[in-house]
Amino acid sequence: MYFSSDWKFLTICLGFNSANSLFFCPWCTITKKEISDIKKEWLISKQIDNINQYNGHHSTPLFNMISLENWIPDELHIMLRITDRLWSLLLHEIEETGYFNDVAREIIVKEMNRIKVNFHFWQEKECQSWSFTSLMGQDKLKVLQFFDLNKVLPPTRANVIRNLWNGFFDLYTAIRDPNTDPKMFKRDAKMWLKIFLTPSTGIPNSDNFVQGLYRPNDVTPYMHVLVFHIHEFIEKHKKWGLKSFSCAPVENKNHQQVTQFFRKTLRDGGNGINRKSAILQILEFENRKLYYICNDSHNIPNTIKLQI
Ligand SMILES: [Zn+2]
Repeated sequence: MYFSSDWKFLTICLGFNSANSLFFCPWCTITKKEISDIKKEWLISKQIDNINQYNGHHSTPLFNMISLENWIPDELHIMLRITDRLWSLLLHEIEETGYFNDVAREIIVKEMNRIKVNFHFWQEKECQSWSFTSLMGQDKLKVLQFFDLNKVLPPTRANVIRNLWNGFFDLYTAIRDPNTDPKMFKRDAKMWLKIFLTPSTGIPNSDNFVQGLYRPNDVTPYMHVLVFHIHEFIEKHKKWGLKSFSCAPVENKNHQQVTQFFRKTLRDGGNGINRKSAILQILEFENRKLYYICNDSHNIPNTIKLQI
């Protein structure tokens, strides 16, 4: 038996700490303080049978019949969350240089349009910080591959960050490739983290100063899993390939339902006693649709207006 989900659901079902805890990794005993130490080695070391002996495991796992090496991190969420981190680090850098103004925001939106990604910035009421469009997986991949960093950064800096983004895209592609060699993956992933953590050298504001990349605090739990555990999962599950355990189809289904049903949502509480839960309406609608597909393909019901 196998289990695969995003980080939050996995830790809930495992009866384990959240990702921002001191003991954050479901598979090994690393602490948050060690997350950026690339000299250390971490392997899947816990056992499901005595999992509550390890720090951070506060409850009995819901599925304790599944061996821990079969609790598989989801490749889609690795891509989504690490891309989020790379993107927010870029925005943070632009903000720090003091150029995150209307002009910079317009340049970013234009560049997003160029690569065919629908993207906006906006400010919530009484809020200083800027919110921006939450992108779907396919759009995140476009940004990761094609966003021209020269539009927002000086050329040398754009080049360094572009290499880092390309390196991550290559790792993500390798996770999904059934022919990936786990040893090579481990080496490449570790090298990528090393580049991510490139320290600055020289004296600031002098000629010999070379700006590094990111700080140890910027490393996330998903990056730890990417670097230290994914190669193990590739090796152990090469029969199926990690792509087989992807949550992408489930996320896609969720997205379809959200866009199909919730776009026209009435947020006024529905119509009294006839009101049904959203999930029930979705199931009933899909059930009806399946019935018509099986029995009379000419009469498929129209999309319903959902009340929640
Ligand atoms: Zn670990």
